[in-house]
Amino acid sequence: MTKKVNITCPNCKKIVEIDSRFKPFCSKACKSIDFLRWANEEVAIETFEQPPEEQEDY
Ligand SMILES: [Zn+2]
Repeated sequence: MTKKVNITCPNCKKIVEIDSRFKPFCSKACKSIDFLRWANEEVAIETFEQPPEEQEDY
């Protein structure tokens, strides 16, 4: 007995067809949107990453 697993698109939560080319996304659009968001987060992390606080001598 094979259990049918429904995948939901991480972006829009729509049910993704099991043979979707864009798994786990429902469509190319959702896949690229998620990729862009991920890429932006990567950039943001790098931007906000500060070097360790330097100790100042008083
Ligand atoms: Zn989607």
